[in-house]
Amino acid sequence: MLTDYHLHLRPDENGTTFERYFTAENVDRYLAAAEAAGIEELGVSEHVYRFRQALDLWTHPLWVENAKDDIDAYCEFVRGTPLRLGVECDYVPGAEERIDALLGARDFDYVVGSVHFIGEGDAAVDHDGFDVWEGDGDADEIWRRYFAALADCARSGLYDILAHPDLVKVWGRARPLPDRDLRSFYEPAVEAIAESGIAVEISTAGLRKPVGELYPSRQFAEMCIEAGAVFALSSDAHLPEQIGFEYGQAVQFMEELGIEEICVFEQRQRSLAPLGSRVR
Ligand SMILES: [Zn+2]
Ligand SMILES: [Zn+2]
Repeated sequence: MLTDYHLHLRPDENGTTFERYFTAENVDRYLAAAEAAGIEELGVSEHVYRFRQALDLWTHPLWVENAKDDIDAYCEFVRGTPLRLGVECDYVPGAEERIDALLGARDFDYVVGSVHFIGEGDAAVDHDGFDVWEGDGDADEIWRRYFAALADCARSGLYDILAHPDLVKVWGRARPLPDRDLRSFYEPAVEAIAESGIAVEISTAGLRKPVGELYPSRQFAEMCIEAGAVFALSSDAHLPEQIGFEYGQAVQFMEELGIEEICVFEQRQRSLAPLGSRVR
């Protein structure tokens, strides 16, 4: 079995309207790409901040600018397609009850939890418009805060899949790296992953980014395995061409680490399926 659960039907750009991308034709392009790549399970997980309802959770300027669509129209559209229904929902500290209410009112197959923004204020680890690295950009402090937020995200119990678990590395050498052993930053997140039982995402998106690596790093993945974690496989595609992006590398990575099963989701129930090797 190969899956691609964390994916988007449109790029994160201006002018990518719901009407233009949430069409049967566009879904067919994704399904054809999945079929060609040997991916049996395909689901969509739109960013929560593209929906008006997300403004109940947070009013970050990026969210205010993007919150144009209706989440129920989205769910209804996806339910009319062969795609599994997911959503990528940021962990917003302090908004746990409102997140729970928003997610619980819809019949998602899975919810992808992510951390893009950290600390007080509006700064993001992966968005150059709200760059956390501006100013003093202390790498140790930024990495510590990122993984603390990731641990809180896992521990919140709100999510099925922990997205791009070491996203903080996204810029690669274009940003400073901490001096300390990176395992000391992963530690609190791995502890929370073990406690919560959340599935850890193996994402090939990092291979398209300046860092040029899978999320998570090998060391982080090894620590997750040691802690008894399970894994989910996704590309975080924003275009049909990115479906199953570099899955050969991801499958090899998992095989080398001894990961033999991946998570499959339906109605927020998780099961494990043998990892497929049929990468085309
Ligand atoms: Zn994300
Ligand atoms: Zn995403």
